[in-house]
Amino acid sequence: MEQYQHLNAIILRSRDYKEADQLLTIYTREQGKLTVQVRGVKKTNSKLRGGILLFSQAELVVTAGKAFPIVTGASTITAFASLRSDFVRMSYAGYAAELLDRVISEGPADEELYLFMLQTLQLLEFIDPWVAVRYLELKILERMGYPPELTHCQQCGVRLSGEKQRAVYGGLLCRSCALHESAGIVLSQEGRTFLQALSYVPLHRLGWLYISKEGRASVETFMDLQMQQVLSYPLKTRDFLRKMNM
Ligand SMILES: [Zn+2]
Repeated sequence: MEQYQHLNAIILRSRDYKEADQLLTIYTREQGKLTVQVRGVKKTNSKLRGGILLFSQAELVVTAGKAFPIVTGASTITAFASLRSDFVRMSYAGYAAELLDRVISEGPADEELYLFMLQTLQLLEFIDPWVAVRYLELKILERMGYPPELTHCQQCGVRLSGEKQRAVYGGLLCRSCALHESAGIVLSQEGRTFLQALSYVPLHRLGWLYISKEGRASVETFMDLQMQQVLSYPLKTRDFLRKMNM
């Protein structure tokens, strides 16, 4: 007897497979990241096509397959319609999905990470998308065990003061520790305040956060450095967003 399983999934990526099939990379609440096969989805009469929208939340029914689990049923739970009609927001959703795909390997489920990705897609519908993806980056760093330390010196532990701080993997340095550190970059006071707010401001108020163009540049440089701890090389979608924002 065949075993069917219901999965709550976020569709991160799709690619063509064989003649009429697709492979989907999904992040599920029940099993973490998975690759599943959707048969015949490129045929016009495919019943599955409407239920596997990119960057949507869907309920999938899967059964065991030869190479990959096979999707036998798909229905959209949340389509994130406001995101779908906006090219810029869709581009940011593409970055969020690539980020999760690249940082997480197939393995045990992480329900919190699933919820963070859902929250990010919800935020991407309404608030400044730049803020929404910084939220996801911060949450991923926290889940992976690399929360950036923003209040105390990463080396000696003294409480940080002053306008800007030199940043290294894991956080910031006080003035005297920074003297011995030639590498690293600088995080502005505005950037630091923004990142601190990002970790404690309730989700429904994230849309109120303001940050200047200079502050954004500083935060991006800082987060790039921190993300290097969990990513081996930069993401294509991130470079695309940079060019779009120039
Ligand atoms: Zn120090």
